[in-house]
Amino acid sequence: LKTTYDVVIIGSGGAGLTAAIQAHELGLKPVILEKMPKIGGNTTRASSGMNAAETNVQLHHHIVDSFGDFYDETLKGGGNLNNQALLKFFTEHSALAIDWLADHGIELDDLTITGGMSVMRTHRPSSMAPIGGFLVTELLKQVAAAKLPLFTDIKVDQLVQTDGKITGVKATTANGAVTINAGAVLLATGGFGANKALLGKYRDDLKNYQTTNQPGATGDGILLAEAVGAKVVDMDQVQVHPTVQQDTDHAYLIGEAVRGEGAILVDQQGKRFVNELDTRKNVTAAIDQLGGTGAYLIFDRGIRDRVKAVEFYDHIGLVKTGADLAALATEAGLDADTLTQTVADWNQAVANHADTAFKRTTGMDRDIAKGPFYAIHIAPAVHYTMGGVGINPATQVLDKQDQPINGLFAAGEVVGGLHGNNRIGGNSIAETVIFGRQAGQQMFKYLQ
Ligand code: ADP
Repeated sequence: LKTTYDVVIIGSGGAGLTAAIQAHELGLKPVILEKMPKIGGNTTRASSGMNAAETNVQLHHHIVDSFGDFYDETLKGGGNLNNQALLKFFTEHSALAIDWLADHGIELDDLTITGGMSVMRTHRPSSMAPIGGFLVTELLKQVAAAKLPLFTDIKVDQLVQTDGKITGVKATTANGAVTINAGAVLLATGGFGANKALLGKYRDDLKNYQTTNQPGATGDGILLAEAVGAKVVDMDQVQVHPTVQQDTDHAYLIGEAVRGEGAILVDQQGKRFVNELDTRKNVTAAIDQLGGTGAYLIFDRGIRDRVKAVEFYDHIGLVKTGADLAALATEAGLDADTLTQTVADWNQAVANHADTAFKRTTGMDRDIAKGPFYAIHIAPAVHYTMGGVGINPATQVLDKQDQPINGLFAAGEVVGGLHGNNRIGGNSIAETVIFGRQAGQQMFKYLQ
């Protein structure tokens, strides 16, 4: 670890890694500091994919999409509360981010769909591996090839500000405290879903919820920025993920991909109760209304084959299996006749392309007919914090008068505003790559 770099990047998730690579390619010397022993942050836990519109990948799949639709649907999903300047930048740079990844040998050439989107714009690797682990592994190859310094177990505790400019950080290492000087600092520290005190401060109702987040998601970047006068926005906007398996001490985010490929959700009796691909907020509300029992994802072999992660969940005992639906119902504690009828009705809806019961219109290309059949018990858990530091589309952190704080940049989940009151699945990975690239470019420009 040296005492001076061009830029200090705090956090080794998708945003930090992307920004480091981009900054390096423009000739800067970045360092990445990660407080945890493990690299990759919450990014490694992302499952569905990366949203983007107007991509060549979509055209290869005969999907004609537009930035405008991507914008409108994200705004609608976010309750019209999204920061529109950030959203505009985000949607209009989404295809470029997919291209940039492809230029680096990181191909996301398969497509799926997530709740709230009208077309397949969630890009993922053709191996159908969960996006997060794949992306971090691939970005780390680039970091290694460029010999970029990346240190784990170094926690940034404070930003150094001189004459109104951020000029470095103070951090704690295994060997004690250090000060690192830099021309610019990027907060890529992720959200605060694992910080019960901070959650409780803004959302008392959620402080006892389990979380899907890694333990390091404690909102450090928000506190660091506030200490130098940054404004924070939307801090009470917390996404509760509707479909989290939480019967063991680890909360596993399971449902998104399985729902997108055609799984249905049923209650304790075995009845459907919601459009499974409605927004996360609405699906969560519907599950909460069941009265604390949680719900069950129901799917078949065909759907399972499209979602690799299920194999892992099965391996660790979280998936119930039955040769037929009645056997599955018994295994999962549901009513056999009801479940059988529910699935028959659903298969009819798929055949008719019309879900008269709940008006689902997406993720219904496959019926649930090919045994064995599967069930996963799920319930809502804290998943994503939409709030965070205020930035402009140049990723500059803003003070309370909306003026940039010189030398301080932020990208990724630490930022507030892009998602409004509800983040769409596939938009967080997109945010890390799109704004990570932008941060790398803007820090370069700032340092010219
Ligand atoms: P994003 O998706 O926005 O890139 P992630 O959650 O994937 O966010 O990554 C953020 C990373 O930042 C995590 O690995 C987290 O442990 C790390 N981090 C958070 N606070 C600090 C800190 N104070 N010092 C160093 N690293 C931090």
